[in-house]
Amino acid sequence: MISPELLAILVCPVCKGDLRHDSARQRLDCHSCRLSYKIEDDIPIMLPEEAERLGEPASGGSGTQGGRNQEDRKG
Ligand SMILES: [Zn+2]
Repeated sequence: MISPELLAILVCPVCKGDLRHDSARQRLDCHSCRLSYKIEDDIPIMLPEEAERLGEPASGGSGTQGGRNQEDRKG
């Protein structure tokens, strides 16, 4: 278990932003960088190269593809 004091001082090494501690997955997520830092033996691995990329942001809807309008053809 990581101490709350340690979590309080931990920031993302990339953007220096706050991290979200996922106790269930034992990870520290940075929403700004979309990176997930892993925790091994209660030691956060604060290395961008070791972090995993999170999925795409939840914001935004489904992309529009193949919705091409019919062009007015002149003959
Ligand atoms: Zn970050």
